Amino acid sequence: MSANELEPIPFHRPAIGDREIAAAVEVLRSGWLTTGAKAHALEAAIAKRIGVKHALAVNSATAALHLALDAFGVGPGDDVIVPVQTFTACGEVCAYIGARVVLADVGEDALLGPSQLETALTDATRVVMPVHFGGQAVDVDALRTVAPSARFLEDAAHALPASAGGVPTGRLGDAAAFSFYATKTMTTGGEGGMLVTDLDDVANRARLMRLHGISADAWNRYGAGGSWAYEVAEAGFKYNLTDLAAAIGLVQLERLDELADARTAIRTRYDAAFASSPMMERPPRRAGDLHAWHLYVVRLNLGTLTIDRAEVIRRLGEAGIGASVHFIPLHLHPHYQQRYGYAPGDFPVAESIFERSISLPIWPGMTEVEVDRVAATLLEICAAARRPVEA
Ligand SMILES: *Cc1c(COP(=O)(O)O)cnc(C)c1O
Repeated sequence: MSANELEPIPFHRPAIGDREIAAAVEVLRSGWLTTGAKAHALEAAIAKRIGVKHALAVNSATAALHLALDAFGVGPGDDVIVPVQTFTACGEVCAYIGARVVLADVGEDALLGPSQLETALTDATRVVMPVHFGGQAVDVDALRTVAPSARFLEDAAHALPASAGGVPTGRLGDAAAFSFYATKTMTTGGEGGMLVTDLDDVANRARLMRLHGISADAWNRYGAGGSWAYEVAEAGFKYNLTDLAAAIGLVQLERLDELADARTAIRTRYDAAFASSPMMERPPRRAGDLHAWHLYVVRLNLGTLTIDRAEVIRRLGEAGIGASVHFIPLHLHPHYQQRYGYAPGDFPVAESIFERSISLPIWPGMTEVEVDRVAATLLEICAAARRPVEA
């Protein structure tokens, strides 16, 4: 059987089972679709799991990041430090509130480290946004020593469950954003997110702004029988999570460790397959810390190959295997060049990681046969394109 007769292996397939479907159907039949008991239950369950005081369900991690920056009181004249090894959501939320994005390079581990933060730091830095890339938690304590007066907003979109130094993501910074987007480690059915924080003032402001700036106090003020009454305190946003989404999320959260174990097993299998290949490097990881394995990013040793990363991905696609790249560094996009004046070459470590990186499929439903086929196909593609070594 030739490769193109085999079933394709997609880059991602969400782990939605009968329980998630039943939970969604129950909400659809209940007469209450949008934010209500299920959204509150998901907030309580996340707060308990992470060990934080406040969890606010929202419709994306982008919304959570935006609400946190707003609640921190950041605005025009303030700088927010964002590593280039991330998705544009981190930068765009700064633009929403009129703050300036200051980009930073990353270390060889693809994470923002103290030395990259030190280089990027400005007098106007108010917030640092560490990104737990791929599911590996950033050592936020080490960053705090470099910028003790900044607030730290974790982009934890990849990192549930994960930890650094025994502390779970969501408790490493002053606030954190989790994503329940379709491809993330758990989903609320396609779109969703959660803002977590221990800070009462941040939570109160974010709760107000999450839903049109409508003050919950109005309910108390008008008392019984006044359920029609509300009070608009601010020009807020429309960021609430539906009960339909939250019900799916509650099942996924119950399965969080099962799903994480499945991804870790795939990581272990890939690691073993690639261990002895001189043509690639396995993803870096810190021993002892919990890694969420949202992504498995293999790095090609381009000097050993006659083809580039794009060609390797094209050949994987020909063999029916979906692969991706995380991420095109922010400073290589026209928006960041035009608005902030960045240029190619500004962040050499991230660029070098980018040119070599391929994200392989790592979704919980993959069979061992599928994992082995991905690994073998990649090894074959590289072997066929191996650069002759001079004697
Ligand atoms: C997915 C992602 C986001 C945005 O998450 P949404 O829930 O889609 O808004 C933010 N940051 C990173 C690093 C991501 O991968």
